[in-house]
Amino acid sequence: MEIEFLGTGAGAPSKSRNVSATALKLLDEINEIWLFDVGEATQHQILKTNIKPRKITKIFITHLHGDHIFGLPGFLSSRSFQNGDAPVEIYGPVGIKEYVKTSLRISGTHLSYRIIFHEIENERGQLLSNDHFQVKYALLDHRIPSYGYRVIEAKKPGELLVDKLMQAGVPSGPLYGQLKKGKNIVLPDGRTFLSSDYVGPDIPGRIVTIFGDTRISKNHLFLAHNADVVVHESTFAHQDRDIAHKYYHSASTQVAKMAKDAHAKYLILTHLSARYLGKNALMLQKQAEKIFPKVQVASDLMTYNVLPKKDLSDE
Ligand SMILES: [Zn+2]
Repeated sequence: MEIEFLGTGAGAPSKSRNVSATALKLLDEINEIWLFDVGEATQHQILKTNIKPRKITKIFITHLHGDHIFGLPGFLSSRSFQNGDAPVEIYGPVGIKEYVKTSLRISGTHLSYRIIFHEIENERGQLLSNDHFQVKYALLDHRIPSYGYRVIEAKKPGELLVDKLMQAGVPSGPLYGQLKKGKNIVLPDGRTFLSSDYVGPDIPGRIVTIFGDTRISKNHLFLAHNADVVVHESTFAHQDRDIAHKYYHSASTQVAKMAKDAHAKYLILTHLSARYLGKNALMLQKQAEKIFPKVQVASDLMTYNVLPKKDLSDE
């Protein structure tokens, strides 16, 4: 599980930062990549990575401002040329379907695959739940409806306690597999072995929370609590927090405090205003570090590896 930042700037592209797009690479887990926002020229950024557009199966849009969606029609169109016939699911606020359909219709674009739209209307809820992942969402506090997404990996069964089994005289073989799957076994000599006695504690799944543009809101902790990584905008620095508030954005220190309150494990700041160029971007990180030390400012094409957990003692 890896996060790759395709665009980390706010509003308009600058020389060092393209507009918003974040890829959650789930290649080892489900051989898919999920995109969060598709700012203009996201497909150009993808060309600089090893991301294959046909692997992108789900796109989550946080809100409908141009710097988060102007790259969507172009990306969808190009994906069609790269023998992608697997459908794409698009999740986002009401209006995303009309935007995409209108762009494709007026430009005479025909896709080789189907798009399945899921428009979000409620304040909080769940978008999907399967054997591998769950995705929850909640409304934030921006000038237009803006959402955050919480991706929760399913827990995995713990390690088989092989030494303990050997000591008990259980022969290695298919019986081990059954115990690992949670089944109790009976040996020919009549002895019963309970799976729960020979399998370690469940390994919890990872949690990644990706926020849209927003002030800090009452739904933030619902989305970010205990997350392994929180990706959040820091459009402004601490000294510009009044401007942040006025424009429904966040400042570095406000985000750091939220991550601390949420007991998050790591925080990545993105969506920086172009006023913080070069070393000034590091200033935002230093401000946040004083409150929440495990923080980093994202840069374009940066990747972050979300390491697997070992067992419940990590919690
Ligand atoms: Zn934005």
